Amino acid sequence: MPFPQERPRRLRRTEALRSLVRETVLSPGDLVWPLFAVPGTRVRNAVKSMPGVFQLSVDELVAEAQGGFEAGVRSVILFGVPEEKDALGSGAYDADGIIPRAVRALKQRVPGLVVMTDVCMCEYTDHGHCGVLKASKAGGPGQDLGVDNDATLPLLAKEAVAHAQAGADIVAPSDMMDGRVAAIRRSLDETGYGDVPILSYAAKFAGAFYGPFRDAAESAPREGPGIPRDRKAYQMDPANAREAMREVALDVGEGADMVMVKPAVPYLDIVRMVKDRFEVPVAAYHVSGEYAMIKAAAERGWIDEDRVALETLLCCRRAGADFVLTYYAKHVAGLLTGIRR
Ligand SMILES: [Zn+2]
Repeated sequence: MPFPQERPRRLRRTEALRSLVRETVLSPGDLVWPLFAVPGTRVRNAVKSMPGVFQLSVDELVAEAQGGFEAGVRSVILFGVPEEKDALGSGAYDADGIIPRAVRALKQRVPGLVVMTDVCMCEYTDHGHCGVLKASKAGGPGQDLGVDNDATLPLLAKEAVAHAQAGADIVAPSDMMDGRVAAIRRSLDETGYGDVPILSYAAKFAGAFYGPFRDAAESAPREGPGIPRDRKAYQMDPANAREAMREVALDVGEGADMVMVKPAVPYLDIVRMVKDRFEVPVAAYHVSGEYAMIKAAAERGWIDEDRVALETLLCCRRAGADFVLTYYAKHVAGLLTGIRR
């Protein structure tokens, strides 16, 4: 037996000791709650693949955000499902569109809330892609598959300005077009919104964890001539970590105030790398598929939902996330504060 003997267990004997040496804390202020806005009033459509998540008309969304705020959730991020979709996603940059209406109502009714808006085209385009398609611009069906990066940039910038005009506290581009952070920053500055920060979805990986979200946001790519089947041509390859650092560096260079890694748990190595290499705040998005997996296992009685949710979000923080976007925000804030509504 070596002497002196190392015994890390000495510091784990009691809860008071454990809390004394705890390295990471999860608090309600670390959570951002994604909410889905739809047209109409008194609309509360349950999203089948995401128990506890609803598409909400603006009146219901305000009530939901209010409830979350009282449970300790200080930030929300909004996704919009417009009345109508078209090839150019014009609902995205309509100053009186679904998101500006929701932002205005929230800022009026829940003034202390941080309102972030997702800036992208996929909820608004009839083809379901995050930008305009080359084919739709050229007019010829199917010859030139893919999203037109540079034609999408001014539309994203217009969308971000529309959200800022409505009162959004933070705009969050999720499209993964190259150069969009610079385009958005320039437009915000030119229109008098120099104080609105950008949270960029800097490392957003193409993959299978977004399925339930696309039900909620009605944003799955459609099938059809000239429409790419997936988003692999602009979202990242799950195999690549070094490339993620390049994406983050570009976005920070273009003026991103904060960066996001999405999804969260399978990509916590990326979160840690970003945290170690960059000085801006880092967010992790615990996405719909991650949420749905916990829900499904809990429904079967296979896991303890509350404990797994708390552990999952704590581990995102430990990996380096300054805050976490999660459908569990209100529930977990309630667990942390002891206020259940
Ligand atoms: Zn998108």
